Amino acid sequence: MKQITCPIASIDWYNEDTRRILLDLPAGEDVTFHAGQYLQMVLPQKKCPFSIASAPHLKGQLELHIRPTPGSEDSAIIEELLDNAREIEIQVPLGDCFLTEKTDNPLILLAASTGITQMKSIVEYLEPEGFDYPVYLYWGVLSDKDLYLAELCQSWADKHENFHFIPVVSEPDTSPDWTGRTGLVGEAALEDIEDVSNATVFVSGGPAMVYATLDAFMARGMPEENMKSDIFSYAPRS
Ligand SMILES: Cc1cc2nc3c(=O)[nH]c(=O)nc-3n(C[C@H](O)[C@H](O)[C@H](O)COP(=O)(O)OP(=O)(O)OC[C@H]3O[C@@H](n4cnc5c(N)ncnc54)[C@H](O)[C@@H]3O)c2cc1C
Repeated sequence: MKQITCPIASIDWYNEDTRRILLDLPAGEDVTFHAGQYLQMVLPQKKCPFSIASAPHLKGQLELHIRPTPGSEDSAIIEELLDNAREIEIQVPLGDCFLTEKTDNPLILLAASTGITQMKSIVEYLEPEGFDYPVYLYWGVLSDKDLYLAELCQSWADKHENFHFIPVVSEPDTSPDWTGRTGLVGEAALEDIEDVSNATVFVSGGPAMVYATLDAFMARGMPEENMKSDIFSYAPRS
């Protein structure tokens, strides 16, 4: 893990609250990471984790998607930094929830909100060689307007027979035009996939969502070691 200062190459808005940030890696800086790892933004008082949204084979830049948590002091500091700064100090790489090779079993990717960033890196790492086994990407959001990467995710499904994209809205009252799946993302996956005993499952979201998903998948026969999440080391269950 190294600490470096990266110039901000660009910032674009995906929707009213989520930004895509491209960081340039300083020339001569050799930054390697695995698909699924995260970095920490170094603030004066604290370090804040953000999954790397780009795949490791894309050299020279790192992509982040940042959405503020309403009412959070740290988020307010980060938003101000993004509004004004020209460079950002980061520590990279971090996290033990990643892929370094193709899996030889089905892969279930469960993302809550901006948890999609980690899954984007994993899918873009695997995608050039195609998918030998089924890959299921479930993306849970509160409202359909939060599905800012839906077109990209659907393009993977259109291109690869073995790739399935299932967006799930948990508060359909906020989305009057939504005709897709509703409910909780982990429950939706268990409704669709009968046998999870042989699947590798990546989960990205807050601790409550991740641990509820772990319990539900284990109750359906998934061995505990088959589920990977940053939360297991970042926020261990007491
Ligand atoms: C490993 C990790 C990766 C993260 N990646 C992103 C990201 O790509 N984009 C983003 O906008 N925010 C991400 N977050 C949340 C982000 O770090 C916080 O929103 C930020 O630090 C501001 O702190 P907070 O007080 O608002 O939120 P906190 O209260 O610190 O975070 C809210 C809760 O949600 C969880 N969480 C939120 N988003 C994610 C996520 N994508 N992956 C895993 N857990 C998450 C955190 O573990 C935490 O429990 C990530 C958090 C973690 C732990």
